[in-house]
Amino acid sequence: MKTVIKKVDLKNIEACKDDLDEAGRIIREGGLVAFPTETVYGLGGNAFDKCASSKIYNAKGRPSDNPLIVHIADFKDIEKVAEDISTKAKKIMERFWPGPVTLIFKKKKEVPYETTGGLDTVAVRMPSHPVAMRFIKSAGVPIAAPSANTSGRPSPTTAQHVAEDMNGKIDMIIDGGQVDIGLESTIVDMTDKVPVILRPGYITKEMLEREIGKVEVDRVVLAKSKKELGGDNYVPKAPGMKYRHYAPKAELIMFQGNDEKVAAEINKRSYESIRQGKAVGIICTDETRSLYRYGVVISVGSREDEKTIAHNLYGVLRDFDMENVDYIYSEAFYDTGLGQAIMNRLIKAAGYHVEKV
Ligand code: AMP
Ligand code: MG
Repeated sequence: MKTVIKKVDLKNIEACKDDLDEAGRIIREGGLVAFPTETVYGLGGNAFDKCASSKIYNAKGRPSDNPLIVHIADFKDIEKVAEDISTKAKKIMERFWPGPVTLIFKKKKEVPYETTGGLDTVAVRMPSHPVAMRFIKSAGVPIAAPSANTSGRPSPTTAQHVAEDMNGKIDMIIDGGQVDIGLESTIVDMTDKVPVILRPGYITKEMLEREIGKVEVDRVVLAKSKKELGGDNYVPKAPGMKYRHYAPKAELIMFQGNDEKVAAEINKRSYESIRQGKAVGIICTDETRSLYRYGVVISVGSREDEKTIAHNLYGVLRDFDMENVDYIYSEAFYDTGLGQAIMNRLIKAAGYHVEKV
C-alpha cells in the first residue's frame, strides 16, 4: 500500500481543506489515517467499523485485547459511544475538553468489541489540536485511535516518526509538524464512584481533584518495580497496562539518587560498556549535562521545566534508536505533577529497571 503524506499549514488549516476532506473520506470508506493531536500522533479509523479497528491492530502489531481511544470533535457525540455519564465526568469534560484527558465509560452497543479490546467500557477523548478537530469533523464519525507507532515503540511526536513505523501500512499521514505535549493523554476510569487514573499525563491528579474532589491512582501506575506490580502474573485493570510500552531498541536503565552520585554511577557504567565495545546514550538535563564524560549525551531540557522534558522525551528515545546505541542510561525525575507521567513512561521504557545509587 502506498502511504500518502499531506502537509498541513497550521497557520492556514482551511487552505488544506481538500486534503482533510480526503482524509475524512478514507475513514468513511474503512481506511486508516495518522493525524496530529496535542499529545502524540494518532492512528485513526472509524470507531464503529470493526474491520477498521482490526486494521489498526494489524498496522501497529498490537495485541487485540489492548483497547483503542475513541476521539470525538463535538460534545454531543459522547452520547453516540458512551453511557452512564456522571456529573463528575461532565465537570471534567467541561473543564478540560477539548484537551489531553481520556475518560472511560460503559460503552454503547454500537461500539464494536474490536474497538474496545473486548471490554464493555469505552475510552473517549476530545483532542484540542485544530487539525485533529477538523479531520474528525470531516470524517463525520467518531475516530478510534491509539498512538501511531509500532506496538511497544515510543509514541510518535512528529510525522517522520509515524512514517518510520507506518509507511506502506496505512492510507495517509497528515503532517502537522511536531506535537505540543509529547506524552499520551491522562486516562481516568469514570465507571466507579471514585474516579481512578489508569495512565498519568499532562492533566494531573491535582488538577482533576480541584474540579471533582477525590481521585485515585491505580496501583499499576504507582508501582516502581516488577515486584510492586505483583510479579509477571499480575492482572491489571485495563489490558493495555500489562504490555511493555514506550520502549526504545536499546536496553534502558534509570538511576535514582542525588545528581552527583547518579552522574558518577552513569560515568562508571558508560566507561565499562564502551570498553566492552558497546555504544552508550545518556539522558540527562541542562543542569547536569556537564557532569557526563562518555557516550552520546542528550539533555531532555531543564529540570525546572517539565513541559519541555515531556515534549522532548520520545524524540530523544527515537534519536538513540537512530544512533544504534546498545544501552541508554537515564537520570530519574521528580515523581509529582507532570513528573509522574514522565517517570511512568520512563519506568515502562526501562522495563522497571531502576537502580538506586
Ligand atoms: P494508546 O493511546 O496507544 O496508548 O492506546 C490507548 C490506551 O488507552 C490503551 O493502551 C489502554 O491503556 C487505554 N484504554 C483504552 N480503552 C480503555 C478501556 N476501555 N479501559 C481501560 N483502558 C483503556
Ligand atoms: Mg500507545
